[in-house]
Amino acid sequence: MSSGTTPAVTVVGLGPMGRAMAGAFLDRGYAVTLWNRTASRADALVARGAVLAPSVEEALSANEVVVLSLTDHAAMYDVLRPAEHALEGRVLVNLGSDTPDRTRTAARWAAERGAAQLSGGVAASPAEIGLAGSMTFYSGPRAVFDEHRAALEVITGRVEFHGEDPGFAALLYQIGMTMFWTSMLGYWQAVALARANGLTATDILAHATDTADSLSGFFAFYASRVDAGEHVGDVDRLAMGTASAEHVLRTHSDAGVDTALPSAVAGIFRRGMAADHAADSFSSLVEVMARPEA
Ligand code: NDP
Repeated sequence: MSSGTTPAVTVVGLGPMGRAMAGAFLDRGYAVTLWNRTASRADALVARGAVLAPSVEEALSANEVVVLSLTDHAAMYDVLRPAEHALEGRVLVNLGSDTPDRTRTAARWAAERGAAQLSGGVAASPAEIGLAGSMTFYSGPRAVFDEHRAALEVITGRVEFHGEDPGFAALLYQIGMTMFWTSMLGYWQAVALARANGLTATDILAHATDTADSLSGFFAFYASRVDAGEHVGDVDRLAMGTASAEHVLRTHSDAGVDTALPSAVAGIFRRGMAADHAADSFSSLVEVMARPEA
């Protein structure tokens, strides 16, 4: 990982994430080698002292630790296949998002070429890279994680190791993104409804924030009950929730905004009613959602 006393790393992929990561390594005094399909994205980093390798092969050969910040694993194969003979002995810190299964396949592919893959799910935005509070989930070979922990902590101040299954970090990442995308779409939907009624996103900011903040209390209340399969209905009966979901849907259609998202939500509540959960907690929807729609 180091040339002489200077720690060194290669970063492949210079989208917003890869550029932030390379910048964080430069901030911490690393010798940084770069490669990107669009070479010009390296300009500002080269001006700060990074070296742009003329080929992927030379970027891989420059350092043991190679951080991959590519869109997905298809991009990774596109980039690495032409230079795969240079993978022997490398540690691939694979921070591109993809499915757990594809991440396991990528780890096998790397191992067959003599490289070790650490899979990472970065739970941070580019602006948070290099900051103490930011966090990445890792899984893969424990010894490799331990040996290179200092470099990983340059990328995000916190790192969590989650076992040797290379797909597990990807699973944790996709769990987080499942919540992030659906929650943010819920927010955009609320903003669309507010707009249709003459309100701005700023007007509803406090209300939206209070609503989002209340969710963690629901998670804490339901987690152990859901794990135990307990869906005893009280103030949270599915029948009440279904009526509410229909009100939400009707409010959106009355306002003339798109109803795809509230329709999908009401549809899931209706499936719960059809499965005889009317008197159960609306947490019973997790049983409906745990299998594909018939
Ligand atoms: P981008 O998709 O903007 O950029 C990724 C890089 O992939 C670019 O350097 C791009 O090259 C390269 N690339 C894509 N396809 C190919 C290909 N076929 N061949 C060669 N190079 C290719 O992603 P980000 O930088 O935003 O993110 C990187 C990864 O980190 C993604 O998997 C993302 O999901 C994940 N992530 C991103 C976050 C974010 O907030 N942005 C947050 C957490 C994780 P070129 O410059 O030539 O286009």
